[in-house]
Amino acid sequence: MIIYVYFTNSIYGFTPFFTIPHILCPLLGHVPASAAPNAIASRAVLRVFVICLFFVEREYKREIESVWRDRIFIFSLSDLFMYVCTQVVEAKSLSDHPVTWNLTELFSSITDPQIGQAIAESKALADKFEKTYRGKITELSAQQLLLCLQEMEAFTLQFGDITLYSSLSFAANMTLPETQTLNDRVGKLEAAIGKQLAFYALELGALVKANPQMIQESTLANYKHMLERVLRRVEHQLSEVEEQLMIEKDQFGVNGWEELQSKWLNTRLFEVMVNGEKKTLSYGEVNGLLSHPDRSTRESANRSIYGLLGRDGEIFSASLRNICNDWVTVSKRRKYSSPMESSMIANDTNQGIIENLLHAVEGGVETYRRYLKLKAKLMGLPVLGNHDIVAPLPGMPELTFSFHQAQELITQAYSRFDTQYADAVKEMFAKNHIDAQPRFGKRNGAFCAGYYKGKSAFILESFNGTLGDVFIMAHELGHATHDWYASRNQTPINMAIPSIVAETASILGELLLTDHMIENAKTEGERTTVLCHILDEVGMTAFQVTARVWFEQALYDSIIKEEFLDYHTICRHWTQSRDRIFGSAVEWFPEMEAEWTMKPHYFMANYRFYNYPYVYAQMFVYALYERYLQEGKLFVPKLKKALSSGSSVSPLEIGKIVDLDVADSNFWKLGLKRFEHFIIELEKIHV
Ligand SMILES: [Zn+2]
Repeated sequence: MIIYVYFTNSIYGFTPFFTIPHILCPLLGHVPASAAPNAIASRAVLRVFVICLFFVEREYKREIESVWRDRIFIFSLSDLFMYVCTQVVEAKSLSDHPVTWNLTELFSSITDPQIGQAIAESKALADKFEKTYRGKITELSAQQLLLCLQEMEAFTLQFGDITLYSSLSFAANMTLPETQTLNDRVGKLEAAIGKQLAFYALELGALVKANPQMIQESTLANYKHMLERVLRRVEHQLSEVEEQLMIEKDQFGVNGWEELQSKWLNTRLFEVMVNGEKKTLSYGEVNGLLSHPDRSTRESANRSIYGLLGRDGEIFSASLRNICNDWVTVSKRRKYSSPMESSMIANDTNQGIIENLLHAVEGGVETYRRYLKLKAKLMGLPVLGNHDIVAPLPGMPELTFSFHQAQELITQAYSRFDTQYADAVKEMFAKNHIDAQPRFGKRNGAFCAGYYKGKSAFILESFNGTLGDVFIMAHELGHATHDWYASRNQTPINMAIPSIVAETASILGELLLTDHMIENAKTEGERTTVLCHILDEVGMTAFQVTARVWFEQALYDSIIKEEFLDYHTICRHWTQSRDRIFGSAVEWFPEMEAEWTMKPHYFMANYRFYNYPYVYAQMFVYALYERYLQEGKLFVPKLKKALSSGSSVSPLEIGKIVDLDVADSNFWKLGLKRFEHFIIELEKIHV
């Protein structure tokens, strides 16, 4: 027996009253989308009732089909019954149990004997690969290289399950001895195998350097862009002995300076007034007060952190000066044209594109300052203090969400873009691939780890129900969506997506959620809160991070000009870069000159210019969203194609797939337009 039922895009959203309101609305009443689990359970019961009614009204089938042709699903009655039962059970269990992820697709448990077996198989594959290819890669023909790359992918796939499982188990429960043991065991194995197979990258580099024409061979078409990237890198490789020496010296050189910064920061104690009460807190704790609702608590936290760090300024400046000087020396030895070039190669982009980007952001500072001035007005201040930039607005509603409300909101937001585009999101919830429960021993922050073999991903987040948490979830689910498309269309080697592209679907997810929430906001206060949330985020990611790029450039310029980077010189570089963005729209405490001391990224050995990829990603996706609004549904397949490309083409080519030319000097203005749109929306309410 067959019946026809209309499902909305939401996982819980079986709402037939949309399809035949004249029959069902009066009977059903309204079950809000944001219903709590108990209400969801009762909605499932209502569904049984609806199905019965709907069954009686079968003559409406044709009418519904004509309106909702591509959204009609056919179910057998028994399937439907099972669906409703599962919904009731699931709704009940979600209300009783916290949301943690299910890793059994990888291994059944941390003590699963399959883990040992998988480790043995990985070792065997690595041994076989070494035996077959060590010392021989430079002699391979295109056909033989194809086999070599495929064998490397097979090894990566096999080993990927183990590294993923151990890192996820550890991140979820870092204090459990068994997760620590496995993580340690796999970490050591990774290092050993990395050393064993280090010849692969070196020999592959030598092969393409000697035979660059091989990259064009049709046999290697799938790996063309990967080989182009290898060729670009190989120019800067040193001999094997020199590379080994670098690693050995870095261990107690720049790595030591990096360690000093983080150890120093994390062993300080800060005296701070919290709501008028004096407390002594660790860096992590006091850092959490920087966006506290109470203004004087924020002031105290800022002054306490940067006052103390500034007093230790000589230590931080010694650390940063040595790391940066080392990098200038290394860059020369590796024949990079500038200290920035290495990061350009890693990000698969070029200097011209990035200079245009930074220039465009600088051109948009007045727009950003317009927002900062409006925010000052909303906070009842003549001008914002540095401690107000990302502060919550006083008197605005504090929006809170249950996990299910977040799930529903995000699913709806993604579905509005395109029903099928939301499939990855729905699957992530349905398969329990999200660990959202805040608990002791769980890693801070949030991440999305791709699961290539399962064509999926796993997300970790500590969900406390704030608006920020919902945005983080929408962001991470964007990464999962990117993985969903790329893993279905690319081989493992083409999953090495550079960070300027890797944030495409995640930032798009935030934008989809923003527009969905703004349109559905019930009050001006709600709309204001959402708008300020997104504007604060972009302000930090695109504008403040641009100041950090200028700061880093200024440090290297100083060294090249043989200027000594003492504490005050470094502070001057920071405040000048910062003021290029904020102008007179923000007043700074004098202690804030030491703000650079706490940013671990500046101190990461051999990892320079971590910053501009964030600016690129933000502005690229804002431009892309603007294009989507212009083109509507025609844009959707282009985006899917771009995400499906993984790293098989360059970021420039990815832009072209969605008809965006990132090399055009005017391109980046399109992203600023979207940013300004949110400010205009806020001005409509408050000006
Ligand atoms: Zn991200």
